[in-house]
Amino acid sequence: MPTPSTHFLLDPPTYPADRYAPLADRIKRLLVTASDVVFVQAEAILALEAAASSMARPGIVAINIVTSPYGVYFGAWLRRGGATVHDVISQPGQPVAMELVRGQADALDQIDIVAVVHGEAANGALNPLTDIASLARSRGALCVVDAVASIGGHALGMDSLGIDIVVIGAQKALGGPPGLSAVAISKRAWDHIAGIPALAPSCLSLANIKATWLDRGRGALRGTPAALEFWALEAAIDRVEAEGIENLITRHGLAATASRAGLRAMGIEPWIADDRAASALVTSAPVPPGMNVDDLIAHAARLGVALGRGVGDIENQLVRLNHTGVNATFNSVLAAVLAYGSAIRSLGAQADLGAAAKAVTSVYSAITC
Ligand SMILES: *Cc1c(COP(=O)(O)O)cnc(C)c1O
Repeated sequence: MPTPSTHFLLDPPTYPADRYAPLADRIKRLLVTASDVVFVQAEAILALEAAASSMARPGIVAINIVTSPYGVYFGAWLRRGGATVHDVISQPGQPVAMELVRGQADALDQIDIVAVVHGEAANGALNPLTDIASLARSRGALCVVDAVASIGGHALGMDSLGIDIVVIGAQKALGGPPGLSAVAISKRAWDHIAGIPALAPSCLSLANIKATWLDRGRGALRGTPAALEFWALEAAIDRVEAEGIENLITRHGLAATASRAGLRAMGIEPWIADDRAASALVTSAPVPPGMNVDDLIAHAARLGVALGRGVGDIENQLVRLNHTGVNATFNSVLAAVLAYGSAIRSLGAQADLGAAAKAVTSVYSAITC
């Protein structure tokens, strides 16, 4: 295939200064929040690091829920800032059990921060966000949510849940660019951040972003704005709004339902057994005992399907059927389920591919729209 010319990406028009505020307001609508939304010109992992770094100092006590490596990182950044961090660690690749979070909270006199990933793309876990947010509220703690993967795949009403900080990226369920992130920040969270010794000058300082953008009336961004990324984010939000965020969330839910039905019909229990604890971004399927995960992934790749490896300590135990963004469709889901089934069959396990295909199809055929 000839290399397509990418020269049209050069010399992009400047992203006009008066478009940042409306773009932020559109993100607020996706998060159903009246809180401020600011941009971080970097991939989402840096926006998470900025949130942790902007909230931590000695004397701050955090409960940090760990359901993937992202939670491990978040705890490390809080500790680096001097906070006392109590990790609550789930079973590998599983959502956190609420009893563990409650037990940790009961053991502490003071809790300032409760941090959690909403939906995991790394393993398919969906954490009990409503319960976690209400626990944080009841203890007067700020609730910080990594919704990088879940935004667009799961409903997330920031204000109705009483969440203080939400970090999002555009590149997962929203189908946007990976180089630009947004952070929604409640008044309570700003008050907390104002009490932290200044990090600035630092790209990790949310207080600095507030001072240089929000407090100056949300016009031009400080530094050099990434025009390509902003145009792409705006295009992604246009597309999301045209589809409707509710429809986008429904499309992800349907992909998860169909993937799980397909696995069960072939005779395989999904890695996360409880449907309500499974994220709509990816469906994890077990690597059958004794089977080599590389062989499984290679077989699927020969069929044109990229199964994902598990991320973290479960990397040899599961594969991820990705149905995020443009992959949340009948043909993607069907191909992924059948490629997984075909792979494990070829490697010696049992799998009823006909039943799987039928199950996926009937989930999609049942919808009337
Ligand atoms: C993908 C992801 C991130 C990191 O996003 P990058 O754009 O890769 O930096 C953080 N948290 C969660 C839950 C994710 O799924």
